Amino acid sequence: MALLEIENLSVQFPSHRGRMQAVEGVSLHVDAGEVLGIVGESGSGKSVTMMALMGLVAYPGRVTADRLVFDGHDLLKLSEHERRRLTGKHLSMIFQDATTSLNPCFTVGYQLAETLKLHLGLDRAGARRRSIELLEQVGIPAPERRLAAYPHQLSGGMSQRVMIAMAIACNPKLLIADEPTTALDVTIQAQILDLLRELQRSSRMALVLITHDMGVVREMAQRVAVMYAGQVMEEQSAERLFDDPRHPYTEALMTALPERNLGRARLATIPGMVPGLNDRPGGCLFAPRCRYAQPECQNRPLLRPLQGGAVRCHFELAELHARFPAAAQEG
Ligand code: SF4
Ligand code: MG
Repeated sequence: MALLEIENLSVQFPSHRGRMQAVEGVSLHVDAGEVLGIVGESGSGKSVTMMALMGLVAYPGRVTADRLVFDGHDLLKLSEHERRRLTGKHLSMIFQDATTSLNPCFTVGYQLAETLKLHLGLDRAGARRRSIELLEQVGIPAPERRLAAYPHQLSGGMSQRVMIAMAIACNPKLLIADEPTTALDVTIQAQILDLLRELQRSSRMALVLITHDMGVVREMAQRVAVMYAGQVMEEQSAERLFDDPRHPYTEALMTALPERNLGRARLATIPGMVPGLNDRPGGCLFAPRCRYAQPECQNRPLLRPLQGGAVRCHFELAELHARFPAAAQEG
């Protein structure tokens, strides 16, 4: 059974120029214990989708969905308080920048202990013991001493480890990691990804890894959702996605992947930009950058099922290759 089911999720922000659509009709699921990669350039709605799930889209942002079910609980029917309790314990999120999650005014030990007391009801001594275990688990040396440290006394990699320790403190069923390594240098990136993978495997927690880096997805994910301009464009097993991409955007992302080298791949080489929230094209959102675009693409394509996945394009990619051999060779 799916641990998380999202159906037809949309997020809008009102503005003086009308409504801005940040996420449009996203459907996703995550099974217990699996790693789902969500990939796409910045501005593709990856983070906003997950913030909406966490209940973190602030007013006047508006979240709608047909279905939002986590671990058997219908999040749309829970009160804010019930939802907080559920997500606080079983659903955790970490961000690119540890300073958004760690409070600079309190020691690492204090922040860990507060989380443990609140959600697991541990007493002071128990919370301290568990905090030390957690810091050990995330590979922080001399954990007893680190408890007294303030966040600014930690390096970027160490802060990220502390944030991960806080996020896994209550043994969540699902951890959402939003660009967890983007701010770090390449060696530390690899270490943090290894740590996440090891924690995910040993605790059988599900992991949603948000990234703009195809290399990271290839290393980490079992299944991948490719997002563009607030929509899911393709969803497939990682293996199939890399072997046989079915959407022109996925294909373009692959072309932009220079080598199978973790942490190096950037998606900057697709010409053009993700449309802004206020200037979304009427038809296929990828059309302005799609090398195969044609008149039919003035209609918005629906997400159609594929074997084991889905794709949002009017055409089969193989058919497009046959029809436009020159364009197909550009990449
Ligand atoms: Fe390209 Fe048209 Fe497919 Fe959109 S619908 S991805 S513009 S071919
Ligand atoms: Mg983001």
